[in-house]
Amino acid sequence: MNLKDRLRDRILATGPIRVSDYMADCLLDPDYGYYATRDPFGTRGDFITAPEISQMFGELIGLCLAQYWLDQGSPTPFTLAELGPGRGTLMADLLRATRGVPGFHAAARVLLVEASPTLREMQAKTLAGHAPRWIDDVADLPKDQPLFLVANEFFDALPIRQFVRDGAGWRERLVGLSEGALSFGLGPQTAQPALADRLDDTKDGDLIELCEAAPLITAQIAARIAGHGGAALMIDYGDWVSLGDTLQALKSHAPSDPLQSPGEADLTAHVDFEVLARSARAAGIAHSRLTPQGIFLERLGITARAQTLARGLSGPALDQLVAAHRRLTHPEEMGNLFKVLGLFPSQSSAPPGLEK
Ligand code: SAH
Repeated sequence: MNLKDRLRDRILATGPIRVSDYMADCLLDPDYGYYATRDPFGTRGDFITAPEISQMFGELIGLCLAQYWLDQGSPTPFTLAELGPGRGTLMADLLRATRGVPGFHAAARVLLVEASPTLREMQAKTLAGHAPRWIDDVADLPKDQPLFLVANEFFDALPIRQFVRDGAGWRERLVGLSEGALSFGLGPQTAQPALADRLDDTKDGDLIELCEAAPLITAQIAARIAGHGGAALMIDYGDWVSLGDTLQALKSHAPSDPLQSPGEADLTAHVDFEVLARSARAAGIAHSRLTPQGIFLERLGITARAQTLARGLSGPALDQLVAAHRRLTHPEEMGNLFKVLGLFPSQSSAPPGLEK
């Protein structure tokens, strides 16, 4: 039995399934899920993320959060949280870069929200010495202290549903079977109250995506920042609103058909940042302008940091550093596709790098 066979059996027994159910099984099924069973990152894995490209990424995020913590009067204790930490590289770089910030480490309670047992083990190794704790759910983040949080490429891994506009209603895109193979189809036309506002900016035949978990998670984070201060940095690829099919599978650094190898390829969808911003507003906190990753990192001083690291390097090591700087910041690489949304207390100005 593999995941494809199991999905086939399930569909034969109970009918076509939502894209979100398909994605959830592919990514986090305890036996076959992509994140649940392997380490997908790095040059030998299926894809590479910003913290794995260069230590500069996590270092600058660390300096941004630590500066903002100082600006808020160095509250003690506070929760330092990461959603979906992968190998733990970002948090390790963040903690190393902030060692010299007086009181920051002593006050920080490191909390990791991670669903994959395999990746939890890896994070425990990377972060040994920092006494991290793990939780399954953002609902379990402490409610009685400030929250400083980062999430890189977390929201793009959350399951989405897809709907195609049909008159004044919607037909849900479903995963079913066609001649024994997994294939996409459309369910019956239904009204979708949650999509009422999308009737204004779509036309017949348009496809939109809905990530039901994203606003719930954001609301939990926002409520804590509203109550006790802090900030959240959400970094992901996506844009202000969702339009069109962005479900994408990556295997060995190349795009593949999302239905081809369930559980063996990374599956993601673009993040609809407006939804995150709206739930922050509803919880009474402010959000930054959506800032391209390249501009954010430049404002935080990535070029100066690269110049410092370049001292003493030559040959391939220097080339690699120059390439990493370019990859993280250049508009034709990750600089523009990836965006940063900051959430922060309404009475404060935006965190460093996200100023208007
Ligand atoms: N932030 C890391 C990894 C990004 S991949 C980096 O930039 O390299 C997505 C991460 O989110 C993985 O660690 C994955 O296991 C985790 N994840 C995915 N869905 C999750 C969920 N619903 N709850 C908790 N963690 C989840």
